[in-house]
Amino acid sequence: MNPWLFPGLVIVAIALVLWIPRFRLQRAIAAPFPEEWVGILESNIQVYGNLPMPLRLQLRSLIKQFLHQKHYSGAAGLTINDEIRVTIAAQACMLQLNRRGDLYPKLKYILVYPSAFVVSRPEADESGLVNQRSRGLLGESWQSGKVILAWDNVLHGARNFVDGRNVVLHEFAHQLDSESGSADGAPLLAGKSCYRSWAAALSQEFEELQKDSRYDRRSLMDHYGATNPAEFFAVATETFFEKPRQMAKNHSGLFRVLHEYYRIDPRDWL
Ligand SMILES: [Zn+2]
Repeated sequence: MNPWLFPGLVIVAIALVLWIPRFRLQRAIAAPFPEEWVGILESNIQVYGNLPMPLRLQLRSLIKQFLHQKHYSGAAGLTINDEIRVTIAAQACMLQLNRRGDLYPKLKYILVYPSAFVVSRPEADESGLVNQRSRGLLGESWQSGKVILAWDNVLHGARNFVDGRNVVLHEFAHQLDSESGSADGAPLLAGKSCYRSWAAALSQEFEELQKDSRYDRRSLMDHYGATNPAEFFAVATETFFEKPRQMAKNHSGLFRVLHEYYRIDPRDWL
């Protein structure tokens, strides 16, 4: 037997294992964007019609990639259909417009409930006593590669893209945050100087929001963002996409770093 045959077969097998997924992905992205999906975008994503055409086309391409790579499951009797898949994918991919790199590389599964879902977990109270506590949630992001969403709230958020609240933008901002290895309000940035300006802008604004929350003052960003830096980044992302003018006017430093990070300016279409 030719001594080079076995190593040669191994190399061919490895090449195929690496090449086949890429080929399938390229084929999925190259496929035409179904007309029914365009209808879903037009009826469910409030801002879709206002996006400049290059961004619309880019969004469609990202949606095809997202739907090829991520697996959806329905919970509590919900049956996953194209409306659910495309409406979630479109909002998740809004965060990826104009940005290179993999599309949520750690994310594998999206679990969708019909409405708010209840989780029960041990939580410590102010005295340190740990009790099992049940809470109703609209969304949750896991670093292990899963996002959980309540469909009725997803749809409401997609059709109302101006109130500063959007559960998909929020949970997928957490996914971006966790790409750096820990969900701490600082996603992967281009370099050291970016981290410095990021930390300066976000820590100052985070402290301001904490004060607003403590004294129950009105604020542009939801007080939930005062919970911790990770929640602040997620809430700031919702505000950046849905209330960009108010953020640019009243929180210009924060708007600037988010604008640099997301590489888009939502003021162009809102
Ligand atoms: Zn959150």
